[in-house]
Amino acid sequence: MASFTLHGIPVSRGIAIGRAHLLTPAALDVKHYLVAEERVEAEVRRLQDAIAEVHRGLQALWTDLPKDAPTELGAFIDVHALILSDPMISEAPLDIIRGRHYNAEWALVTQIDELSAQFDEIEDPYLRERKADIQQVAERVLKVLMGSAQLAPAPLSEEEYQPQMIVVAHDISPADMLQFRDRSFIGFVTDVGGQNSHTAIVARSLDIPAAVGMSQASQLIEQDDWVVIDGDAGVVITNPSALVLEQYRERQAAQIRARKKLQKLKKTPAITRDGTQVALMANIELPDDCPGALEAGAEGVGLFRSEFLFMGRTGHAQKIPGEDEQFEQYRKAVLAMKGRPVTIRTLDIGADKPLDPTEHNALNPALGLRAIRYCLAEPQLFLTQLRAILRASAYGKVRILIPMLAHAFEIDQSLAMIEQAKAQLREAGHKYDPAVQVGAMIEIPAAALSLPMFVKRMNFLSIGTNDLIQYTLAIDRVDYEVAHLYDPLHPAVLQLIAMTISAGHKAGIDVAVCGEMAGDIKLTRLLLGMGLREFSMHPAQLLSVKQEILNSELARLTLQTRKILRSTEPAAIAEAVEQLQAI
Ligand code: PEP
Ligand code: MG
Repeated sequence: MASFTLHGIPVSRGIAIGRAHLLTPAALDVKHYLVAEERVEAEVRRLQDAIAEVHRGLQALWTDLPKDAPTELGAFIDVHALILSDPMISEAPLDIIRGRHYNAEWALVTQIDELSAQFDEIEDPYLRERKADIQQVAERVLKVLMGSAQLAPAPLSEEEYQPQMIVVAHDISPADMLQFRDRSFIGFVTDVGGQNSHTAIVARSLDIPAAVGMSQASQLIEQDDWVVIDGDAGVVITNPSALVLEQYRERQAAQIRARKKLQKLKKTPAITRDGTQVALMANIELPDDCPGALEAGAEGVGLFRSEFLFMGRTGHAQKIPGEDEQFEQYRKAVLAMKGRPVTIRTLDIGADKPLDPTEHNALNPALGLRAIRYCLAEPQLFLTQLRAILRASAYGKVRILIPMLAHAFEIDQSLAMIEQAKAQLREAGHKYDPAVQVGAMIEIPAAALSLPMFVKRMNFLSIGTNDLIQYTLAIDRVDYEVAHLYDPLHPAVLQLIAMTISAGHKAGIDVAVCGEMAGDIKLTRLLLGMGLREFSMHPAQLLSVKQEILNSELARLTLQTRKILRSTEPAAIAEAVEQLQAI
């Protein structure tokens, strides 16, 4: 086994040591989880039933064939029925479920991938083409499987739990990433992706070491290779020597010890040494993230990325969640947070979070019909979401956050639609909080440069530094080829953030940062010095940020930060920010 080192972009901290699990794009479309021992036979039956149903379907097709149907059609059905009966489809995936405990869909695509690779090597073009037939048959079975009642993945017992899988793929979409919540997946390596792509953000929220932008990793790394991910450095080492492995194991153990120590701060309020209180909130993707947020000591949810309820809905009858389904999810988050505020961001679809990943028709998706632009173009969809959020506001403190605003008319239209949704709810006899707060994300430079327009109309602001950096520096946050230009400390970025914080404070409205900068401990003191008093981040980062706050002296930080903001020299800024760590 060849040992080599790859360098890419670090996206999620920590060290992972495990076996490579290579994923092809096809395999990514299905759910992945390990099935508990006592559920294995039921899972086997689920696959057998699906295969039997496809058989019946093919039979019915045969019987219903019109007399004048072309003969190829009958032959085509025959071939599919034959493939379906072949042990390579009807038996081998069952062995995978029994042997590796994969769920039925995953077992099937694993087998199909292996077969496809074998077919690729066949010289005979006719036989090689049969690969497409096999894939079509598999798709029929998958369709039935996804429609069948899925067994909820029961938690695995300690003995069954195989904690060693590191997912290696060319790319993983943010929605697919969420499929890997199973704790058997301990790390991610992808060929493409940027530090603040949503895939990277989800990896951070899963709190699993990850490295992206590895260019050829999915071709160089082989199935079952030993892989070490150094998530802090963006380095991946395959099949390391015993000595190297030992060093990483030691570092990993030290990191785990340090994290355990931080747990002591869970109940400590986030107050600077000179007595200023700071609010630490959580970013979540799904309501199920709320218990983890509370566990980390979050004072509320500062950003609920609601689009994750809309993405990756394979197997759902509805492509888009309806009002009741959304309401249930928002209420679930509100109830889980037990009276703490929950900031629900309205649908931020587009760019690297497409509603339908098969439709790639935007010329320049990051600059296209994204987020609020999309919602205003689809008023019924937007109103449905607003009604669902408002209904949840009857159960706790909900704040509505609108992404990607740049124009006054977008703010006005959004507010008018919120009023319209309220009127519809009154008419339908639903309760909601009439004083629900509405805020704007400041994530387009134009917004940060026209703050009076925002503070006049909005109850609060939340700075989306991920997009603000992307749009200020004109670099696509998903494109690893320009990832080196992604710089939170660029003087232009710092000016825009500082202006937003100070304009909000002058107007007497709250300002938060909910982009990834809020969870970066190297930047905590700088943001504090700029006057930031509300940070929203992945729960996994929260205690480290709190520790920084507890050790900070605000008066001195404020003075030093003023100097930094007057500087226009990147090297000087970088050095001064580092020196803040000593204050
Ligand atoms: C941001 O842009 O900083 C943000 C928080 O939103 P998202 O990362 O979902 O675009
Ligand atoms: Mg954004």
